[in-house]
Amino acid sequence: KSEFLANMSHELRTPLNGILGYAQIFKRDQHLSAQQQDGIGVIHRCGEHLLALIEDILDLSKIEARRMELVATEFDFPDFLQGINAICSIRASQKNIAFNSEYLSYIPTAISADEKKLRQILINLIGNAVKFTERGGVTFKVSVVDCASDEKRTEVLTAKVRVRFQVEDTGIGIAADELPKIFAPFEQVGNTRRHTEGTGLGLAISRQLVEIMGAQLKVESTLGRGSIFWFELDLLAVDSPQPNKKCSEKFITGFNGTNQTILVADDRRENRSVLIHLLQPLGFEIIEAVDGQDCLNKALEFQPDCILIDLVMPVMDGFEAMRQIRKFPQLQNVVAIGTSASIMEVEKQGSLAAGCNAFIPKPIRVEELLDCLQVHLGLEWIYENLQEGNPASEVGRKQSQIQDGEIVAPPADEIAVLFELAMMGDLGGIQKQAEKFQKLDVKYVSFARHLHQLAKDFDEAKILEFVEQYRDI
Ligand code: ADP
Repeated sequence: KSEFLANMSHELRTPLNGILGYAQIFKRDQHLSAQQQDGIGVIHRCGEHLLALIEDILDLSKIEARRMELVATEFDFPDFLQGINAICSIRASQKNIAFNSEYLSYIPTAISADEKKLRQILINLIGNAVKFTERGGVTFKVSVVDCASDEKRTEVLTAKVRVRFQVEDTGIGIAADELPKIFAPFEQVGNTRRHTEGTGLGLAISRQLVEIMGAQLKVESTLGRGSIFWFELDLLAVDSPQPNKKCSEKFITGFNGTNQTILVADDRRENRSVLIHLLQPLGFEIIEAVDGQDCLNKALEFQPDCILIDLVMPVMDGFEAMRQIRKFPQLQNVVAIGTSASIMEVEKQGSLAAGCNAFIPKPIRVEELLDCLQVHLGLEWIYENLQEGNPASEVGRKQSQIQDGEIVAPPADEIAVLFELAMMGDLGGIQKQAEKFQKLDVKYVSFARHLHQLAKDFDEAKILEFVEQYRDI
């Protein structure tokens, strides 16, 4: 069974490398319209969700063996909730039911928890709620229990907080005598017509994960009326997330010093293409190899600074290629980073034993790859916002200045046009204007995105209100 799971996981992670790879590359492109940015964001989030699911299937065997461990990190809590909202809103809108998130108290800016597992639980509960609701909708409520008053805020931001997560739906409900069954693996209750839509594993996993986190998953349900699932977790709220590497990664435009040549060895063209599109713009010279033998030949011919090598390849696999490469004195010090869609520990250990300096799992995360290259090649990155005088760096600098949601409005004549459009309720026209502002100057990006979002929500009243604020400025 574990061999099957490991193979499946490898097969599923491989195409995801292409999807997530390009999503990350396009996210770095500052010329995309707000709509395209939104779309890429969705592809990226859904891809990450799929990846999380695949990993969780592997985790299931660990849960069964009671070997599941929590990996707590500090992360941006509002951002996390926003990510869940985005995925669940899409599912709800596909079914034409409402999806609302309600934050019933202040929400800490960052918490320390096992982010992936918490996301898995919530997506499972909300996913079920959407699945079993035909009319009405689903409400996702988050609140910090016992912390309603403002005065407590500063104190609580660095303290332990108890957060209640609650998912309510107005769906089919569950009969009282069937309630105990729903948490058992492979149990699906009620109308058998729906059973094809799931595996019956979701709640079993979620309940166990909540228990490992030290809480209890509870449910109340009325047949024909709907259900409420909730749990309360004791979490550590922290002032801010750990140093935000994502932000700096976004603005890396190159590196100081001499040229660096990277040999990319992967039998799949799409995997090579992701790496090439990511690394070439940063100034790396790339050579491609299609299998282990080819990699060995090209390493000897070109003497690259770094080899990024897939471990599972035809003709000669990555392990063997690395062993051969290390036999040549002139290649003994070349940096080699092994990659594989298999996340089994043996793969990682095997790659290090064969001569790799590091191992990175696929799908490759840009941040992780760049960190790894920095460490092993001793690179000093150039960040867009540190470099003066070129137009691209100007974009980075301005964008970093207008972070924190500061909104800069376009000139008065543009606002006047926008006001006209808002008065007429011309949402299409407003969308076009938003796109125009975005291209006009990066400082209008926040304004444009906000406008775009309101237009997307068909919120004409809010659009008018928003535009009016800037009319006489
Ligand atoms: P799956 O959804 O894959 O069938 P789960 O373990 O998540 O598996 O859920 C088990 C069963 O519990 C479902 O098949 C369904 O019968 C019932 N159930 C779970 N959530 C709800 C809900 N929100 N409303 C009604 N029934 C639900």
